[in-house]
Amino acid sequence: MQFVDLAAQQRRIRGKIEENIRVVLDHGSYVMGPEMKELEARLAEYAGVRHALACASGTDALLLALMAYGIGPGDAVFTTPFTFIATAEAIGLLGATPVFVDIDAKTFNIDPEKLDEAITALMSRDPRPLNPKGIIAVDLFGLPADYDRIGSIAQKHGLFVMEDAAQSFGAEYKGRRACSLGHVSCTSFFPAKPLGCYGDGGMCFTDDDHLSHLIESLRMHGIGNDRYDNVRLGINGRMDTLQAAIVLAKFEIFPEEVVLRNEVAARYSELLATRSSLSGPFIPEGSRSVFAQYSILAESGPHRAAIQAKLKEAGVPTAIYYPKPLHLQGAFASLDYKVGAFPVSEECASRIFSLPMHPYLEFPDQERIVETFRR
Ligand SMILES: *Cc1c(COP(=O)(O)O)cnc(C)c1O
Repeated sequence: MQFVDLAAQQRRIRGKIEENIRVVLDHGSYVMGPEMKELEARLAEYAGVRHALACASGTDALLLALMAYGIGPGDAVFTTPFTFIATAEAIGLLGATPVFVDIDAKTFNIDPEKLDEAITALMSRDPRPLNPKGIIAVDLFGLPADYDRIGSIAQKHGLFVMEDAAQSFGAEYKGRRACSLGHVSCTSFFPAKPLGCYGDGGMCFTDDDHLSHLIESLRMHGIGNDRYDNVRLGINGRMDTLQAAIVLAKFEIFPEEVVLRNEVAARYSELLATRSSLSGPFIPEGSRSVFAQYSILAESGPHRAAIQAKLKEAGVPTAIYYPKPLHLQGAFASLDYKVGAFPVSEECASRIFSLPMHPYLEFPDQERIVETFRR
C-alpha cells in the first residue's frame, strides 16, 4: 500500500501529461514559457484572486512574499511552531525573528487568542526588542486557519497576514478558497501535496497589485524594465515551464480529486467512530479541508508507537507530521525556547500520526487499516 499513490493518478492522465510535455519540447521555451502564464491565470481564477505568480518551490513562495514586504533584521513575524520547517525558515533566512505562538488543540492551527496575547506582549515591552510586522498562518494538513479572527487581530495591530497554503490548495473557508485568505498566500506543488508537479514548484497569490509587481521582479533577480536592468536584489525563483505543463494536466482532474479526498476522509472518520476509541480530524463548521494529510491523535506516545508497529507489520505505511516542533529544532536554538514553551504543540508532536491518504484509496483498504490498529 502507498502512503500517497501518485501512480494511480498518473494512470488516469498519462496521455495528457505526455502531450503537454511534448508541446513544451516543441516550442522550447523552458523558462517563463506560455504554460507558466496559463497556469497562473487558471489558478488565480480558481482561488479567486487577481494575481498568481509561479515560482520554484513553496519555500521560495514564502521567501519571495516576505521579501516583497521588506522583512529583515529586527522584524518579528508571528507563526506556529507546529508546521514544516520552511514556514519559519523563510523568516529566519531574511534575518528576521520568528515569534512562535501555540496551536489550537482541535484544529492544529495557530490559536488566535494566544496570537493576540503574544502580539500585545511584544508591543507593550519598552523598549520594544523587535518590530512586529506580520503573521504567517499555516493551513495545516489542508485545513484553513481561522482567518476571520486572525485578520481582525492583524488589523488591530497593523500587521500583514500571510497564508502558508502549501498543504491547502483546494480547501475552503466560509465560502472562500484557500490561497485567497491572506494579504498574500503561498502554495507548493511538491509531488505529495494535494496539487503537485513532478519536481519542485510553488505559487504566490495576492489581490495587491503592488505586492504582485514586487514578487514578479524578485523572482527574476529584481528585474526592472528589461532583463539587464536590475532595480533590487532578488533571487532565481521562477518555475520551469515543464513543471507548469504537468500541473496544468493534473489541474484538469483536481476538482474531482478534492471531492474524492473528502470522501476518503469521511469514510476513515466513520470507521474510526464506530470501530475504534480514536476520532478523526475536527473540521469546523464552514470549512472544507483538502486532507493533505489525514492525521489523528493516539492516546499517548507509546500507544502511537504500538499502532504504527502493527500497521507496518500489515504493510501499511504511516508518517508523523511533525515529530519535533520548530521551537525545539537545532536550527532555532539561538531563539532560546525551552521545552514546555508551547505545551499543545509538544503534546501533539508526541501523539499525532497520519494514515495513508490520496484520492484513490479504496474502502476495503481503509477498513483493513482501521481493523489492524484496533487490535
Ligand atoms: C511543503 C511545505 C512547504 C514548502 O514547500 P516546498 O515546495 O517543499 O518548498 C512550506 N510550508 C508547509 C506547511 C509545507 O507543508
